[in-house]
Amino acid sequence: MSRTIAVDDCKISLEIVSRKDARERGMKLYFTGKPCKRGHIDRRRVSGACCQKCERILGKLKREKNKDKITAYQKKYRKDNPEKVAARHKKYSDDHKEEMAAYQKLYYQANKEKMDAQQEKYREVNRERIAAYGKQYRKDNPEKVAALMKRHYENHKEEKAAYAKQYNAGHKEERNAHGRLYYKANKEKEAARGRRYRAAHPEKGTEKAAWRKLVLLQRTPPWVNRDKIKKLYAESQRLTDATGIQHSVDHIIPLNGKLISGLHVETNLQILTLAENSAKSNKWNSVAAHS
Ligand SMILES: [Zn+2]
Repeated sequence: MSRTIAVDDCKISLEIVSRKDARERGMKLYFTGKPCKRGHIDRRRVSGACCQKCERILGKLKREKNKDKITAYQKKYRKDNPEKVAARHKKYSDDHKEEMAAYQKLYYQANKEKMDAQQEKYREVNRERIAAYGKQYRKDNPEKVAALMKRHYENHKEEKAAYAKQYNAGHKEERNAHGRLYYKANKEKEAARGRRYRAAHPEKGTEKAAWRKLVLLQRTPPWVNRDKIKKLYAESQRLTDATGIQHSVDHIIPLNGKLISGLHVETNLQILTLAENSAKSNKWNSVAAHS
């Protein structure tokens, strides 16, 4: 025979068994279906015939009475047995991984603002510590970090590309300035990189040269004074040789400018040093970017 009772809002079905039978069967608890002297219908302990509900109530009262003592004991225990406590925590979280993740997610959703604020504050206070930890972690786990970055990149490829495009469009001047500074500081490295690239992609170099030649041809009117142009190129070479500073012949209005295109004629040519040339190219880029 069995009966259904409610224990802590849970309905459970229990077999009716006498204390004697339960003891013979090696059970720790038994259930008669009859109320205890305080009127609870619950299981009882074979060893003391105590009703479980009474036990819970008495236990609670006892804990409340000894609250400070228990807290102090627990505190001391945690302090004296840090490894045991950590191992127990680890075992618990290993055994309840999914439940804990689900709970954390729910908790976060319910307390989003509070938790975000808390985290922000923590980050602010521990900025240096976090940075140092991150640095050390990256140093200790290069493969993990690389794998993580790769995964993150794969997962956010399109967003990143779109963001980069937007950012670059909005920061043209800064980027140009930064690029020039970087080039200046890493001239030899960059030159070597250029050489390697051109060696690996010979077709690109010839294509670019051919394109320049074509543009030059298209922008050269029949009435051009070839002698004057030749003289300018010769003068540029002479200046380079005499000063050791790279000079070149520059089109005052670029041949394939964004707004207007100049002609390959003597009146549109000037001799500039490399530095002047890159400063000028920046100016033209700015004009183009602000139009
Ligand atoms: Zn009771």
